[in-house]
Amino acid sequence: MLVAQSMATRLGEGRKAQIITFGCQMNERDAETMRGLLVHMGYTMTDRTDEADLILFNTCSVRENPERKVYGRVGLLKELKAKKPWLKIGICGCMPQQRAERQRIAETLPHVDLVFGTMNIHQLPELLQRVEAGERVIEVWHEEGDVVEGLPVQRLNPFKAFVTVIYGCNEHCTYCIVPTTRGRERSRRPEAILAEIRELAAQGYREVTLLGQTVDAYGNDLGDVDFAGLLYQVNRVRGIGRIRFTTSHPKHITPRLIRALAENEKVCEHLHLPVQAGSNRTLKRMGRQYTREQYLELVARIREAVPGIAITTDLIVGFPGETEEDFQETLRLVEEVRFDGAFTFIYSPRIGTPATRFPMEQWVPEDVAKDRIYRLIDLQNRITLERNQALVGQEMEVLVEEESPKEPGKLVGRTRTNKIVVFPGDPSLVGQFAWVTVTGAQTFTLEGVLTHSRVAAAV
Ligand code: SF4
Repeated sequence: MLVAQSMATRLGEGRKAQIITFGCQMNERDAETMRGLLVHMGYTMTDRTDEADLILFNTCSVRENPERKVYGRVGLLKELKAKKPWLKIGICGCMPQQRAERQRIAETLPHVDLVFGTMNIHQLPELLQRVEAGERVIEVWHEEGDVVEGLPVQRLNPFKAFVTVIYGCNEHCTYCIVPTTRGRERSRRPEAILAEIRELAAQGYREVTLLGQTVDAYGNDLGDVDFAGLLYQVNRVRGIGRIRFTTSHPKHITPRLIRALAENEKVCEHLHLPVQAGSNRTLKRMGRQYTREQYLELVARIREAVPGIAITTDLIVGFPGETEEDFQETLRLVEEVRFDGAFTFIYSPRIGTPATRFPMEQWVPEDVAKDRIYRLIDLQNRITLERNQALVGQEMEVLVEEESPKEPGKLVGRTRTNKIVVFPGDPSLVGQFAWVTVTGAQTFTLEGVLTHSRVAAAV
């Protein structure tokens, strides 16, 4: 097999590689595969740009800002490359999937040696071999091939793992570039997913996060399994104590899936359910395929089936055509749902997406959009704080993640509802489940005291 042969050449022996990742968990998971491939080729991974012989920028296209950062940071490397002519620089991920960005990279960043897309990751060893032979390689596939299984992975976290279950997205949200950069939906076979999770459990992993742009659409292209069915199967894997998943599209949350959330004890009580806007007019223009009323009803059904579930969301303000009244509806929806948290964004036009074709006079001026996002953040922060304060006095299961980088003697963990808790404790608890009583609450963290801990044994 080509990948194996290329890796066998140990091209990276004695060389150091750095991967700089922007964007979502899918990109982080891709970086883990690239790291795995590079380590198999003999590279040593580094966080230091000045000592790297290979630097890969794993890019994101969802908003303009991360793209700008990539151009800025890669531009600065020109000097380093002049001093270290053997340095190889690559750009991968979502940016090169767009023709315009690919051209811009090729023309304006001549010191970039390698450009590849989200569907070419498995070819990395072969592409690097061509680069080392002196070729400037630009290789971006647009046709989704079969899902490639069995690639080496190097994970950074020793007890929490991302597991991609579905690639791509079939939706047509008018602001979103993802269907262009990630292609159509392709689900992995459940046997492959379960084999990976069993292996993770055997290695001591305690929590898995099932990943997909529309994770709840899992299986629609397979026909013999759906996401609810997958949750039931993953729930049976011994050793794994917690199952999370992201990101869900409201239209794929079926009654069967809600039942699966309620019935599978390892599935955590947290659902990230992007609503994006609270006005039906805006939702329609965004192509979201649900109404405000349907979303609210869905939230009510989920909360009825899974009491205490935390619901978080994504919200966009300043979408073309959004009036103050539309925005007020978003605020009212946020008040009504009382999300546990929200990622809030100002609309960022992406070349090639349908939303950029709305007439210019409908575009929301920057100062108006900024004013709206500040009001939205103020409201959501108030609600998040109130919801957190309501937890004071409760005892919660926490997976201890690390020693606090800011407060010596304290540990940081997450509840099943995905809340961050800081509490005094012994570093030996990192990687284990503990019971913590919440003693205080802020907007982004809870404080607590350890009640008791249990070793993360097989469950
Ligand atoms: S569901 Fe919509 S927002 Fe999410 S990745 Fe697909 S097109 Fe983009």
